[in-house]
Amino acid sequence: MTDEKTNEKRDFIRQIVAEDIRTSKWDGEVCTRFPPEPNGYLHIGHAKSVCLNFGIAAEFGGKCNLRFDDTNPVKEEPEYVESIKEDVRWLGWDWEDRLYFASDYFQQMYDYAVELIKQGKAYVEELSAEQIREYRGTLTDPGKNSPWRDRPIEENLDLFERMKNGEFPDGSKTLRAKIDMASPNINLRDPVIYRILHAEHHRTGRKWCVYPMYDWAHGLEDSIEGVTHSICTMEFENHRPLYDWYLDQLPVHHPQQIEFARLNLSYTLMSKRKLQRLVQEGYVNGWDDPRMPTLSGLRRRGYSPASIRNFCDVIGVNKFYSTVDMQLLEHCVRQDLNKTSPRVMGVLKPLKVVIENYPQDKVEYLEAVNNPEDPGAGTRQVPFSRVIYIEQNDFMEEPPKKFFRLAPGREVRLRYAYFVTCTDVVKADNGEIIGIRCTYDPATRGGDAPDGRKVKGTLHWVSAEQAVDAEVRLYETLFTKENPEDVAEGDDFTDNINPNSLEVLADCKIEPCVKDLKPLSRVQFERNGYFCVDPDSDENRLVFNRTVSLKDTWAKIQKKQKK
Ligand code: ATP
Ligand code: MG
Repeated sequence: MTDEKTNEKRDFIRQIVAEDIRTSKWDGEVCTRFPPEPNGYLHIGHAKSVCLNFGIAAEFGGKCNLRFDDTNPVKEEPEYVESIKEDVRWLGWDWEDRLYFASDYFQQMYDYAVELIKQGKAYVEELSAEQIREYRGTLTDPGKNSPWRDRPIEENLDLFERMKNGEFPDGSKTLRAKIDMASPNINLRDPVIYRILHAEHHRTGRKWCVYPMYDWAHGLEDSIEGVTHSICTMEFENHRPLYDWYLDQLPVHHPQQIEFARLNLSYTLMSKRKLQRLVQEGYVNGWDDPRMPTLSGLRRRGYSPASIRNFCDVIGVNKFYSTVDMQLLEHCVRQDLNKTSPRVMGVLKPLKVVIENYPQDKVEYLEAVNNPEDPGAGTRQVPFSRVIYIEQNDFMEEPPKKFFRLAPGREVRLRYAYFVTCTDVVKADNGEIIGIRCTYDPATRGGDAPDGRKVKGTLHWVSAEQAVDAEVRLYETLFTKENPEDVAEGDDFTDNINPNSLEVLADCKIEPCVKDLKPLSRVQFERNGYFCVDPDSDENRLVFNRTVSLKDTWAKIQKKQKK
């Protein structure tokens, strides 16, 4: 694993880890963590971080913790904790016995703050939030010292303890680090360490009236857990000096923070706050709506964990911002589902076909291949009878050039079955085509003519009598714009929502083998795409979500690029 050639192929973070192992920097140990704040459901961007942290631990014989960064009592809920655990597990990762909550370290964090005060490196501030902002200065102007900056240590200790005990109202005081109000890095201009908040925390209840700020809390969480490589997104690059400063003041383990560029995906959003708005304002039906970029949404849509892990591998890890094409994600799921999904015939928009010369009550069973990509998947028996359904768009009364499917007088193959020729069109009074009539050639059973004659089209079909009724939900991107944030002044991202993102087909006919499929089972409906059984299904009605169509635009783009 450590030979140089493979090292070149590694991303820059894995190179750092490999080098640290080589030099025994952390006694050869590797400990990473995935630290979500439980204020929403995980999305595909989080998957990148999950796969990076758990993946590195797995590859280098280390450990990865699942840690809930629950230091902000106001927005956090147990529902989110449970969903995050479910999603990480579903993705295929295991934190073993290392499930941690930052709130379990509140006492230690508090004690370390007291330690900082004793060293004369922290003080109780009485300026309001607005005043603090004014005093902070700007990128070009240095800040100025707070009048409270040089309080005696004893007074700071006393006030901080009383802040903890709940003696002061929200916002009346803060604890700040005494670093440098003239630092070119604004994060180092006496950052706030603690704020007063009389709020109910999902785990500690009303025990605490002061809550640590992110930068103070996060480094200590990493340190307490013995994390070696603290991997985070680029926004925290400017916070690294503060991460380091805090840990340098204390006699504690000091992990290395490493930043990488977050994932952005076209036609969707990666901000929990905005995803929450989509849920709360009813633009989607919950966090697990199949149009959402959440892991629960993708799962319900039919994505496999392997396809998401593979996507995370393919996009790689670097420090440059970019937006990944949604079609790449779809390409990854197609690759996986192509290998694993049983093929089934399902008609989404049925057109009734009566085969005039086929015996009235006869049903025969024809052999069909379950998955041409997987010989081990075997075959099944598909019922065929006098009345079948085909897709409405597989028939045209007046076909244009290059339309090779069914038309009056024309012969096509019914997959796995027979050649049929259209003899008549059945219309309603208003002229609408409501069915067609055909004849079949019994000699073509199995799909080939003994006289060697050819047909240009092969259609999927379902025998009417044995068909299973289903609802099928087709999806388009949730937003009409590649960048949903691209809006006119005064508008917001909700103005770019795609009004056609969901199409419900209520009257679909599927071959009977799907009857007992459990929710989340995946199949390919031949010629129509990959589908997954939605949990909305019940004994009377199956509901399918289309995961993706079969058309792989990404593969085409790649081919073009190669040329
Ligand atoms: P959001 O802005 O959606 O609330 P967040 O970064 O605040 O995201 P956290 O719960 O703090 O959400 O994220 C947990 C981990 O997931 C962090 O380490 C964060 O860096 C990482 N992460 C979040 N979004 C992305 C993304 N789009 N790409 C890669 N990693 C991400
Ligand atoms: Mg956050």
